[in-house]
Amino acid sequence: MRTARTVTFLRHILACTVILFPLFTLRAAAPAKDEPAALPKGPAVNLSYMDRSVRPGDDFYEYACGEWIKHTEIPADHAGTSPALPLEDETDKRVAGLITEAAKAPADDKSRKIADLYNSFMDEAGIERKGLKPLQPHLDAIAAIRNKRQLARALGETLRADVDALNNTNFYTPNLFGLWVAPDFNDVDHYTAYLLQGGLRLPDREYYLSTSDAMRDIRAKYQTHVAAMLKLAGFNDTDARAARIIELEHAIAEKHISLAENDDIHKANNPWTPRDFAAKAPGLDWAEYFGGAGLTKQKSFIVWQPTAFTGESALVASTPLETWKDWLAYHLIEAHAIALPKAFADEHFAFFGKILSGTPEQRERWKRGVDLVNAFLGDDVGQLYAQRYFPPSAKAQVEAMVINIKAAFRKRIDALTWMNPVTKAEAQAKLDTLYVGVGYGESWHDYSNFQVKADDLFGNLWRGRLAEYQRQLARLGSSIDRKEWSMTPQTINAVNLPLQNALNFPAGILQPPFFDPNAPAAANYGSIGAVIGHEISHTFDNEGSAFDSKGRVRNWWTPDDLAHFEAATAKLAAQYDTYKPFSDLALNGKQTLGENIADLGGLAASYDAWKTSLAGLSAPVHEGLTGDQQFFLAFAQAWAEKIRDAALRQQVLTDGHSPGQYRALEVRNLDPWYAAFDVQPGEKLYLAPPDRVRIW
Ligand SMILES: [Zn+2]
Repeated sequence: MRTARTVTFLRHILACTVILFPLFTLRAAAPAKDEPAALPKGPAVNLSYMDRSVRPGDDFYEYACGEWIKHTEIPADHAGTSPALPLEDETDKRVAGLITEAAKAPADDKSRKIADLYNSFMDEAGIERKGLKPLQPHLDAIAAIRNKRQLARALGETLRADVDALNNTNFYTPNLFGLWVAPDFNDVDHYTAYLLQGGLRLPDREYYLSTSDAMRDIRAKYQTHVAAMLKLAGFNDTDARAARIIELEHAIAEKHISLAENDDIHKANNPWTPRDFAAKAPGLDWAEYFGGAGLTKQKSFIVWQPTAFTGESALVASTPLETWKDWLAYHLIEAHAIALPKAFADEHFAFFGKILSGTPEQRERWKRGVDLVNAFLGDDVGQLYAQRYFPPSAKAQVEAMVINIKAAFRKRIDALTWMNPVTKAEAQAKLDTLYVGVGYGESWHDYSNFQVKADDLFGNLWRGRLAEYQRQLARLGSSIDRKEWSMTPQTINAVNLPLQNALNFPAGILQPPFFDPNAPAAANYGSIGAVIGHEISHTFDNEGSAFDSKGRVRNWWTPDDLAHFEAATAKLAAQYDTYKPFSDLALNGKQTLGENIADLGGLAASYDAWKTSLAGLSAPVHEGLTGDQQFFLAFAQAWAEKIRDAALRQQVLTDGHSPGQYRALEVRNLDPWYAAFDVQPGEKLYLAPPDRVRIW
């Protein structure tokens, strides 16, 4: 899934994960049966997607997906599409059905809350009728701020648990800073408070700092948008206010570190006591800030980007109070635009949907209502979803694939000639202790502190974000639950949780087209198998190499191992640097390195696991395609996507994942791909054997 923080209002399907716009067309969901995966029942790959006029060695993505690309239109309410769109639609419909059933529950039943939240979003007339009333007390509170001390408290009150540095990898918060509660780098048995940079309303600092014409254009439109939002909320002098707000955000952007730098966890492990903040980041009144945030009892924090904290804190002192108050007001309005009259919601979408993502139309309202329920009560509805839609036989079949792919990794690690035996032993230990969750978690989030009212969308948003924040604060200092999930069962995605040494594969992704219990093994291993391998690979990649088998921050590599790993991965970064989706913008091989390594490692291990699953038999030929051809085509078709230029540009700048068309090209690094498609020197994707990147 894409980092959709601005595409749809609160779909934080962010993920250190595999999927952007997922896979093939929804095959008719066959009833799950306990049969060996190797029995071919459905198509191995979707032949109608292929463009056989292209040589696979020249452009494998076009060869695998060209006809699909030619004949697919992006729906007007989407920034992009993929053959898995029907699965997303179907999942939304199922959740909507569960919500409808929940509405029939007695008033005191917990599932009734799901329906009340949904109905509060659907009540457009009620939202319109209330007008600015729900917003006004909050605007009044900002207007009443008299000095920088009160400002510091107000800034503290905006802190929310809305970032996630390593699991769902979301480095974005529009608030001044963001909180992430997770196992402590320096004491992995307990949860601690991580603080991350924030304060920008646009998706990344590049939107403020880039000098390209496209970005200048976006900035000009952003300024018009900010002024329009302020005007709707009744402010005067809106052009000048908007200019000052953006000037402040520009100054904040200059203090931010880049997405690629955020990946280095050794630079992120900066424990600060509350006193350290005043000494290392003077400007903001930190005692007031932590007071406002309800964090006065916290004795230590991990500050992910110290220079940004120093810079942003200094800006609190050096920038006029009135500018900060306008910034606070604008951020408040934007964060609640969907709960305000239609004019606000429309203006919000006109900029963040149309201009930033190139999406002409909003998703249907009921789908956005489902998004809202998934975001705020995701486990409550997910519990119902898992019971209804995830058969135990599918769980068993995927768990068997996991075992095979783990075994493939084990063999690959043993066979590495460059890795020191001590390092190998730790890698194997990581595999041994790896928790792989399939379908749904073993416990559910408790939302009992979240009060939902069927006629108060604004209040529900406010209370929901606050309740989640308080739920996270309550965990500080407590013992960690290594089996806790960070995704809901209905999520169509998967995730690696490095500090827990754990993986989650939600029920949502364990369905056609990603996984079909009746499809040939070659297809399942090429698609969901590569996804599983991708997540396992994160255990060992440039991020995973920093955490040991207990999730501790410890570099378990010898210097020689590290030198080889860095040389091999630098080759992969260079390979991805050469891909240019726009004439003025190439992929950033370093920013996407972790995900590209995971794709490569996952593909290689899943290939081995599939071969093992054949138990010496040859794979069935399907429509003239050999098993190897089916495997690689299924992989490439897993990355079929069409995406609007604005959204693609946003992805290249802000996402750790490469766009799908380039992820499909990982096949260049695998020897069996050359044999499967008779790829020869001189063809565009051909790499001489020494140039193929081999990491695992
Ligand atoms: Zn990933």
